[in-house]
Amino acid sequence: MVKPEYFLETKRLKSRHRPVKARVKDYCEVALPRPEESLKEQARRCMDCGTSFCNWGCPLGNYIPEWNCAVSNGKFPKAAVLLNTTNNLAEVTGRICPAPCEYSCVLGINDEAVTIRENELEIIENAFSRGLVKPMPPLRRSANKIAVIGSGPAGWAAADELNKFGHQVVVFEKDDKPGGIMRYGIPDFKLNKSILDRRLDILKKEGVEFVTNTEAGKALGFSKIKKEFDAICLAGGSRVPRDLRIEGRDLLGIHFAMDYLVQANKRVAGENFAQGESIDAKGKDVVVIGGGDTGSDCVGTAHRQRAKSVTQIELLPKPPACRSAHSPWPKYPILFKTTSSHEEGGQRKWSIMTKKFVGSGGKVIKLSCVKVDACCKEVAGSGFEIKADLVILALGFLHPEKKGPIQELGLEFDQKGNVKTKADFMSSKKGIFCCGDMRRGQSLVVWAIAEGRKAASCIDTYLR
Ligand SMILES: Cc1cc2nc3c(=O)[nH]c(=O)nc-3n(C[C@H](O)[C@H](O)[C@H](O)COP(=O)(O)OP(=O)(O)OC[C@H]3O[C@@H](n4cnc5c(N)ncnc54)[C@H](O)[C@@H]3O)c2cc1C
Ligand code: SF4
Repeated sequence: MVKPEYFLETKRLKSRHRPVKARVKDYCEVALPRPEESLKEQARRCMDCGTSFCNWGCPLGNYIPEWNCAVSNGKFPKAAVLLNTTNNLAEVTGRICPAPCEYSCVLGINDEAVTIRENELEIIENAFSRGLVKPMPPLRRSANKIAVIGSGPAGWAAADELNKFGHQVVVFEKDDKPGGIMRYGIPDFKLNKSILDRRLDILKKEGVEFVTNTEAGKALGFSKIKKEFDAICLAGGSRVPRDLRIEGRDLLGIHFAMDYLVQANKRVAGENFAQGESIDAKGKDVVVIGGGDTGSDCVGTAHRQRAKSVTQIELLPKPPACRSAHSPWPKYPILFKTTSSHEEGGQRKWSIMTKKFVGSGGKVIKLSCVKVDACCKEVAGSGFEIKADLVILALGFLHPEKKGPIQELGLEFDQKGNVKTKADFMSSKKGIFCCGDMRRGQSLVVWAIAEGRKAASCIDTYLR
């Protein structure tokens, strides 16, 4: 550490964003990079605690104090080596991780936490710009072949690790391109897709094979996969959406968030999407039901599609601005958050229950709602309506799709409906492993990477 008490002199700097007026006209990333001197200053705020909690908060156990120290001394290549040791996709988490690490930063007890996520991003981008992130194929290859099903962050990280161990890895992906929700859920204004392609190119040069437009269990049967591969790693995500089965649900103009976002992302990428109803917010009164991050991505997308109005409603009460007694430090708290999409406009309302969708000519025209109290009980006489000709349901996800691999392979699932595994990530069937949202339920990219890494290590042990 340059000066352990530096945090007393230097305050946390807020991340810089492009001006709202300009950014809502395009899908380029909202966040601006931090200049090097400012980055070093922010890294110097790290106290290099005797017992650090940030790497406990990070599911990857990133060497945070160590790379902060390297950055504060201008040793960017050293910081990059430390970062790449634990994180296969630092350029992704550096952009979109909600940073549980920062909530367990010791400085956060009575001051503002270190800007860990931003420091991470600048370390990896610095390494890319210096040409330090390059293909490093394994020196020796084993005879083992592993099929990874699904190319989201879990399958991606598992494939990367297994390839590093020297095994032969083929990733099967049912969509047009690899990336899972990173590519088709998260909008470009948070994560430009060239960031994924840059890393994909490295993985391919290192020997990982990606076979897209191939759905395991359909076009490619598991009997064939089992014959050709020594182990299978399932990483198919958890995409069955929670529905709102109330009166009027079948009206036109009501869609699940992922249906809306996949189309929007494919449009931006110039890719084709399945024929059917085109979902576009242009000129519409948009209501997003669900106050979480998926909902927020829909809000930002609707702004860019030039919606007439955007309203996001949530059943639960507005979260507190500070930690409550239920979520003491260093736990990850549920706090009131304003995302970059919220900065761009629209209204947000909490404690709102939708009672029915009202339509005209078969299309939704408004929502009939009531206010609810903290126990979700209706407040008498609080009924009101919200105009809407596009409704997006962003109510979370229940569990993975049961038809397909889970059914064909006859896998057991846990109480929540996710694939059940033992501590070694092996499912109820020998040689078939599972990781990411498919095992854990809808979570975060950083958790998916952590799961993929752990599953890869267990598969390696199994094969040896
Ligand atoms: C809209 C949205 C925004 C999000 N934003 C964030 C965020 O900002 N930060 C964050 O940390 N987390 C975010 N998350 C959560 C995060 O994206 C997920 O937790 C993470 O992507 C899970 O990774 P995964 O690899 O397990 O699954 P997925 O990313 O869902 O990938 C699964 C892949 O498997 C493929 N697949 C499934 N079945 C088959 C089959 N039979 N054959 C071949 N391929 C198959 C799918 O096509 C998909 O590509 C967001 C989630 C959503 C829905
Ligand atoms: S991956 Fe997420 S939790 Fe881990 S150090 Fe980076 S921002 Fe923090």
